[in-house]
Amino acid sequence: MGKIEHPYSNISIAFTTMHEKEKILEPLFKRNFFSKIIVPRNIDTDLLGTFSGEIKRDSDLKTALRKKAMIGIEQTGLKFGLASEGSFGPHPWIPFLPCNQESLIFIDVERDIEIISHFISTDNCSEYIEAEDFKQVEEFLIKIRLGEQGLIVKPSHEYIQSTEYIFKGLTKVKDVATAFEKIKLDLNAQTVFVETDNRAHMSPKRRQVIFKSAEKIVEKLKSLCPGCRAPGFDMTSFLPGLVCEGCGSKSDKPLKEVWSCPSKSCSYQEIRDRTDGIKSLDPAECDWCNP
Ligand SMILES: [Zn+2]
Ligand SMILES: [Zn+2]
Repeated sequence: MGKIEHPYSNISIAFTTMHEKEKILEPLFKRNFFSKIIVPRNIDTDLLGTFSGEIKRDSDLKTALRKKAMIGIEQTGLKFGLASEGSFGPHPWIPFLPCNQESLIFIDVERDIEIISHFISTDNCSEYIEAEDFKQVEEFLIKIRLGEQGLIVKPSHEYIQSTEYIFKGLTKVKDVATAFEKIKLDLNAQTVFVETDNRAHMSPKRRQVIFKSAEKIVEKLKSLCPGCRAPGFDMTSFLPGLVCEGCGSKSDKPLKEVWSCPSKSCSYQEIRDRTDGIKSLDPAECDWCNP
C-alpha cells in the first residue's frame, strides 16, 4: 500500500455519445482509475448534432464539447462528464494535408475543472469516389478495406439529395452494388457517390484516433496539481528565449514551459524545462545564422 488514491478512483463518468464510442474509452478509464463510464439513455440526438465532419474553430469546438458533456451530466446526475467531437478536413497547420482530428472533454462540476485533449492523425482521412459504373468502385472497396470500414452510397450532388437514396453503414460488396444500381436506375444518374462512413462504429481507423485522444486525456487527468491535488495539471503557456547554439542570440522560441492548475480556486504554477528536452536552438532555425 502507501499509494495515495487518485481523486478519480472508482468514480462514474457520464459519456454523452453515440456510435459505441464508450467501448473505446472504457478499458482505458477502467485500467487507470477503476472508473465506470455511463452512457445516458434517450439522448436527443438532435442536440448532439449529426456528424458533420467539418473542422470547427477552437472556440466553437470547446462550446460544442462542453454542451454535449453537460447533457450527460444533467441526465445522469453525475458530477463527471465526457464528450467527444471528431472532424475531417485539411490539417490545421499543414496546408492541403487531409487529416482526422479527435477531441475529448472531461468536466468535473464539483471542482469546476475542464480538461480537453486533441489528437490529429494524417493516417485517417475521408475518402470517396464518384463512379459511372461499379467496376470503378471495386478497386476503391479494396483500398478502403470494406467490411471493417463501412461505406455510404448516395447520389452525386446534381441529383436530389433525398434521404431515401442515401445508404449508410454498408459493409458488404453486394449491398454497395445494390445501392449503386438503385441510384443509377431510379434517378437515371450518370454517376454515383461512394464515400467512407466516418461514424466511429463504422471506421476502425477513426476509433484508433479516438483512442489516441483518450490516452492523452487520461495522461492529463493523471497529472495532479502539486498545490491542491486537482487532476489536470498541465502546460498552459511557455516562456520564450531559447538560445541559438551558433551565435548565442535569444530567439522567441519556447525556452521554458509554464504549468498551471486547472482549478479556478488554485493559482499554483510551475516553470519547467521543456518536455521534449530541447535546451538550445538549432542554428538552421535561427533568424541570425540562417536568415
Ligand atoms: Zn491546484
Ligand atoms: Zn544563431
